[in-house]
Amino acid sequence: MFFGQKCGEQWLTPDTRASCSLPQLHPVIRSAAVLSRFSYMSEPAPKTCVVCGRTMQWRKKWERSWDEVRYCSTACRRRGVQSVDRELESAIVELLTERSRGSSICPNDAARVVGGAEWEQLAEPARAAARRLTAVGRTEITQAGRVVDPSTAKGLIRIRLR
Ligand SMILES: [Zn+2]
Repeated sequence: MFFGQKCGEQWLTPDTRASCSLPQLHPVIRSAAVLSRFSYMSEPAPKTCVVCGRTMQWRKKWERSWDEVRYCSTACRRRGVQSVDRELESAIVELLTERSRGSSICPNDAARVVGGAEWEQLAEPARAAARRLTAVGRTEITQAGRVVDPSTAKGLIRIRLR
């Protein structure tokens, strides 16, 4: 990590880096700031939780298992993706396909199609379905007509085909 860096006027090599007196480059007392900058630079790209559709940023605890990480949380892992979730995805796409190009729906519209009188229980699952569809590029999520990040959007959202 320190090869090719300069210590004072001297380029660091495997032989000279141990004697470098600049604290931030010394292997023994190199600062956390330097290390965190390096780990930031090499951080893997974010992924999408397969259940809630939110973006997951790489975390140190996932260092060894990042390739296998699929869920953002224990709650998502426990819940999984159920058949009702796939129904909600289909309902969103069908409702949007029926409408004229560029028009949008509310996630609750899909919740009503799938859940009927019990639709309110599906309000959050419908939002998650919209996020999953957005993550794979089929839809986008808007607020006041502007495309927003589904992972962080709070309050009423609308869905439209991309
Ligand atoms: Zn999740």
